[in-house]
Amino acid sequence: SERKYIVGNWKMHGTRAMLAEARAIDRSAERLIKVEVAIAPPFTLVHACRKEATLIGIGGQDCHHVEDGAHTGDVSAAMLKDAGAGFVILGHSERRANHGETNADVKAKADAAIAAGLNIIVCVGETEAERDAGKAEAVIAKMLAGSLPSGGEALTEKVTVAYEPVWAIGSGRTPTPEEIVAMHTSIRKQLVKAYGEEGASIRILYGGSVNAENTRELLADDIVGGALVGGASLSAESFLGIIIAAG
Ligand code: 13P
Repeated sequence: SERKYIVGNWKMHGTRAMLAEARAIDRSAERLIKVEVAIAPPFTLVHACRKEATLIGIGGQDCHHVEDGAHTGDVSAAMLKDAGAGFVILGHSERRANHGETNADVKAKADAAIAAGLNIIVCVGETEAERDAGKAEAVIAKMLAGSLPSGGEALTEKVTVAYEPVWAIGSGRTPTPEEIVAMHTSIRKQLVKAYGEEGASIRILYGGSVNAENTRELLADDIVGGALVGGASLSAESFLGIIIAAG
């Protein structure tokens, strides 16, 4: 099976003191060739992390959909690229909830990121009420169809999808491995529908309360391409526990 892709989303955590964690992760990643590793620090640390770490991927957590202009407080994909980012996380449920990002917004950002030469991790996830109502797969299918960038099969190497059930984020609760495989299988079908056979090669990550103890079980099936990790990515020690378990 292919190497798992383990991405740390630092969210709004991290001052320059955290650069030591990035360095420690990077030094160990060297020995963990069985796993592909990346972190997405806050914008303020992207450039410093890129200089600090040579082996792991560095990305942003959001970008604006235009290249520059009168958009106070925003950061463009081109700026992220210039700062040394190789990818950007888009459509995280915290962006959708706290900043009202719609699928169309996420798609516009995805198109901008691809145009700027960044890879993208597009996040989708259902709420607990949607899952309880039996609508999870339909909700995810709609989010995906609306959020993926234009451009067809040439993009498949640049796109990663992260399945993050909203109710599993930061809650200590996760779907069962069977539920994860079922959703990833459904997402895989959507991707093949959108991109043709090439869609089968797009990586699909699981995210939500991943830790060193549950990684092996949650990522056991080949259809789970890796994990998007929040809280447990904030120290090199806990993040490396996940990386080792995924290898
Ligand atoms: P936690 O790992 O803290 O649950 O966060 C998951 C997440 O939202 C990663 O993007």
